[in-house]
Amino acid sequence: MAGLYGKKDEEKHDVLDPIFGSYTADHALSKYELNKEPVSPEVAYRIVKDQLIDEGNARENLATFCQTYMEPKATEIMAETMQKNAIDKSEYPRTAELENRCVNIIANLWHGQKNENYMGTSTVGSSEGCMLGGLAMKFAWRERAKKLGLDINAHKPNLVISSGYQVCWEKFATYFDIELRTVPMDEEHQSLNMNTVMDYVDEYTIGIVGIMGITYTGRYDDIAKLNDLVEEYNKTTDYKVYIHVDAASGGFYAPFMEPDIKWDFQLKNVVSINSSGHKYGLVYPGIGWVLWRDKKFVPDKLIFKVSYLGGELPTMAINFSRSASQIIGQYYNFVRFGFDGYKKIQKRTHDVAVYLATEIQKMGMFEMVNDGSQLPIICYKLKDLTAQNWSLYDLADRLRMQGWQVPAYPLPQNLDTVEVQRIVCRADFGMSRAHEFIDDMKRDIEELNKSILVGHKTTELKKYGFTH
Ligand SMILES: *Cc1c(COP(=O)(O)O)cnc(C)c1O
Repeated sequence: MAGLYGKKDEEKHDVLDPIFGSYTADHALSKYELNKEPVSPEVAYRIVKDQLIDEGNARENLATFCQTYMEPKATEIMAETMQKNAIDKSEYPRTAELENRCVNIIANLWHGQKNENYMGTSTVGSSEGCMLGGLAMKFAWRERAKKLGLDINAHKPNLVISSGYQVCWEKFATYFDIELRTVPMDEEHQSLNMNTVMDYVDEYTIGIVGIMGITYTGRYDDIAKLNDLVEEYNKTTDYKVYIHVDAASGGFYAPFMEPDIKWDFQLKNVVSINSSGHKYGLVYPGIGWVLWRDKKFVPDKLIFKVSYLGGELPTMAINFSRSASQIIGQYYNFVRFGFDGYKKIQKRTHDVAVYLATEIQKMGMFEMVNDGSQLPIICYKLKDLTAQNWSLYDLADRLRMQGWQVPAYPLPQNLDTVEVQRIVCRADFGMSRAHEFIDDMKRDIEELNKSILVGHKTTELKKYGFTH
């Protein structure tokens, strides 16, 4: 998680050892102040590299949704294009065209309709996509509500979402002064509750967010059902509401693996969708996408013009300058894999997830919360907390000894007495690694069963690594 950093700790060691054996070995460098003199590239490289030496091994990190492997040709083209500024459409018109092609390719995957004018842009990740989707809903709501004569300042506008939302929605609500109306999940409704969701909607609702799928468990909200409910609701009122789908992880998975699920622009009331290119889009962070089914859902006020080949190009972004290399990496993947390639990769990941779920179920002490049959996310809890002397946190610690990062955490609000452990399968976690993981997990459980664990006097809730 990107930190917000402050003044250095006075007690901390604050010098770097330059490279052993080199002529600079006897000059210490300050960690927290600029060195006075330059060092050679080789020395700088070694110093920086050595600082990172004991960071976790990304390939064993089963906590993150973010891409941890791209093939050498992909990283080559990305390294070669790092200097291109994505916002500078006039200097890099060909790069802009690749971004445009990506938007069209994605619109096609998400069933953009022929008789409408879809629009979209790349973003830094899904978070920026959610901000832009949310802002478009806020501005569009304001225009509709004003026309209908509503006193738009009488109440804070609200956004309806299940309590399984990712933290970016809380940021959106805070940054842009929106009330986040959360529909509680419970044991029976571990995604957006279709029996109650419409009770949360009123004339100050800017929109409803459906999630494909929920970060904590991998479950999908039933977007088709939500679309029906919205359709019925909109018949009864002038204050129409629409749906934004947060498909951070499902957006590049469902089109290949579950083409029969209706969740995208096939559904009339889904007006915008975001997804992370750096999750199942298979690109290194950070890249995301947000698309609208029609330009009429993107208020003019949110569009800014930048110069482009002597003319102007509309843009929509929170950030301004950033490298275009991730956009180019996304386009590379589209060209390289094609539809069938993506499908094969996702299918392999799915098979690994199913294998893990089957093996974990066989161990006997776990109950599955998500078995990888949709998103390749395995999520499980202990059947009986008192049947063993260890917790999922102890198991997570034990697995960490072999380098595996498998977080344990409580489910969100209303379900937070349930503690789960989650494994996110990604393309670079192959079947042979999965076999090794299961062997390690079995051995760790055996070890824990034989151990006498001394815990803290008060139980602390550990939370790590589940929001991305
Ligand atoms: C990961 C995730 C996000 C945030 O995505 P980033 O690409 O990391 O900004 C938002 N919503 C959901 C459902 C997610 O899983």
